[in-house]
Amino acid sequence: MSVITQGAIGRIPAVFIGHGSPMNTLESNRFTQSWHDLAGSMARPSAILAISAHWYVPALAVTAMSSPRTIHDFSGFPAELFAYEYPAPGSPDLAERVVDLLGPREVHRDESAWGLDHGTWSVLAQMYPDADIPVVQLSLDSRLDAREQMSIGAALSPLRDEGVLVLGSGNVVHHLGALDWSMPDKGFDWADRFDAFVRSVMTTDPASLPTVMSGSDWQRSAPTPEHFMPLAPIAGIAAATGVTAEVVIEGATMGSLTMTSYIVY
Ligand code: ZN
Repeated sequence: MSVITQGAIGRIPAVFIGHGSPMNTLESNRFTQSWHDLAGSMARPSAILAISAHWYVPALAVTAMSSPRTIHDFSGFPAELFAYEYPAPGSPDLAERVVDLLGPREVHRDESAWGLDHGTWSVLAQMYPDADIPVVQLSLDSRLDAREQMSIGAALSPLRDEGVLVLGSGNVVHHLGALDWSMPDKGFDWADRFDAFVRSVMTTDPASLPTVMSGSDWQRSAPTPEHFMPLAPIAGIAAATGVTAEVVIEGATMGSLTMTSYIVY
């Protein structure tokens, strides 16, 4: 099966989803509802390329197996979540296309090490609960800075005209050590401020996204960069296309997580 369906269904938007807790797989709240509604508002993609915060490794790799396993890469959650499976097929064809598009960068074809992690399936469980669209994951290469991650997005942007949904999954503000369970629907001042700063950049000049990565709000919002970084390829797609991003939904939970999500048409 070819993933190349150019002209058949038009351009698929690229999206960044703030995924938050793995429990969003099973729960229903205003964020998960927005993911569901987002999928309903778009043409159905022929395949999905997911770039998740949870596959942050010092290599560029793409899942190339025909049946990726569901990885339960967390601890301390209910058995119901460990039992959850997202049995979407893979797409070796899309994996090959990604290898081509990212050349001459070296991209490892992963046949067994990874699969679908919860950064991917917690979101897709809500967007496409039937798990009937092929899904490929691309690793977040930890050796690359934000500008290089943006160039990865730019290189992938032709996929949008080939029926492929490019999905970044992370969180703009993600500081687990600062979680405050007494504020379920609020962010700390610094979290709200940083999230608003990123919104202003994404909606006016996504090419300048790396400029947000300094100062005390950045340090507190992204003490490790892996949840922020999936936003960079999506910003890179916007910059390469000459458009700005639009906010799908915004908001914070538990003080130090923001769930703000973006779409690039
Ligand atoms: Zn996460």
